[in-house]
Amino acid sequence: MEEENIVTQDDKTISAEHATVAADRPESGITPGDKGAFRDVLSKDHARRGKPPVQFSDMGVDERIAKAKELGLPKFRVKQLANHYFGRLETETDAFTDLPAASRADIVDAFFPSLITEVTRQVADQGTTIKTLWCLFDGSHIESVLMRYPNRTTLCISSQVGCGMGCPFCATGKLGLTRNMSTGEILEQVRVAARMMRDGEVAGGPGRLSNIVFMGMGEPMGNYRAVLSAVRQISAMPPEGFGISARNITVSTVGVVPGIRKLAEEGLPVRLAVSLHAPSDELRDELVPMNRRFNTTQVLDAAHDYFLASKRRVSIEYALMRGINDQAEHARLLAKRLNHYGDDWVHVNPIPLNPVEGSRWTASKPEDEQRFLDILHRAGITATLRDTRGSDIDGACGQLAAKTREAFRSAS
Ligand code: SAH
Ligand code: SF4
Repeated sequence: MEEENIVTQDDKTISAEHATVAADRPESGITPGDKGAFRDVLSKDHARRGKPPVQFSDMGVDERIAKAKELGLPKFRVKQLANHYFGRLETETDAFTDLPAASRADIVDAFFPSLITEVTRQVADQGTTIKTLWCLFDGSHIESVLMRYPNRTTLCISSQVGCGMGCPFCATGKLGLTRNMSTGEILEQVRVAARMMRDGEVAGGPGRLSNIVFMGMGEPMGNYRAVLSAVRQISAMPPEGFGISARNITVSTVGVVPGIRKLAEEGLPVRLAVSLHAPSDELRDELVPMNRRFNTTQVLDAAHDYFLASKRRVSIEYALMRGINDQAEHARLLAKRLNHYGDDWVHVNPIPLNPVEGSRWTASKPEDEQRFLDILHRAGITATLRDTRGSDIDGACGQLAAKTREAFRSAS
């Protein structure tokens, strides 16, 4: 696949009541002033859930300095900690050899509480696809998927525990939304994967984590503030961040229009992916419940405006479901609607549906997939059928966590 192409499924790869206190960063609701736009798509009980421990990346510079001061450490120590975290990808006491021995344990407690713990790992594609199920501080589960390709390595990360958008074909949607993840929880997925790559723990020897896609569990626009802070810290150069170019970060959304518009205003060159899945409101209303809130015209208008603002081609995600949205008429209508905005602004990623247990939808026939692609190509639209890497390990994000939950349920 092309560098610019995101991968879903395999590579697949809106928040609480807004709290008014600035110090609530890990709660990561939405930014002040936007709550009206988002509120009706937020989880009702989200705000009542506990907050994850505050970690280094959840803190602003002043907070870090104040915290260091509490431990009796001067300001310059904060820079050393940033170097350890973002530059050397380490959070353990033994690594902090340039810090006073007596303070190391306190430093870890104060700045680097353990946020994610590996529960299980599934490996496929000769060790180049690794899907990890993580346990968070409150026993919640999320997952991330690392995919190594010859010319890049992509990590698909989660931004929420579950998802409240209720797309019926999606395993995460079936879980509902438990809570938003904090910036620290989001970033830990990145740090651990970057470290595995650096240390040669992924088949193929030492390498570099190069791409990030927000296509794991959750709706990134539903956790806007924490996601944005994570994007900034993923892309900043060390010691402010992990140094993964914003151009190599993809934020995927179900089509939360105010979120897309807000992201456009940030002026970051991140790629936007929009999970369209249907060319008409009639069909999309059924496949993507959020369409009743923001319809296809509103979503495509916002996507095109994002293209204009960012100069980055927008990805359109389209899970092909047999006999539902994969017929010639659907491809023709999709092409027409995208071409309405002009040429070369969009890239379509059709992907065969990864069927979720108990769902009435199934993957398209290969010949229908091909016809779908051909119609788009003939209409001048770039489209690449996504590979289904990791499908033998429940590659569709959300499925691993969903299964674990099932297993726990039947065991108890
Ligand atoms: N909530 C965001 C990002 C996470 S989902 C979004 O919806 O865009 C990542 C991608 O996986 C989305 O494009 C989503 O539509 C797709 N997806 C979900 N379930 C799928 C399945 N069973 N088969 C194929 N793609 C799926
Ligand atoms: Fe949520 Fe995306 Fe799944 Fe829809 S497809 S339920 S928005 S994770």
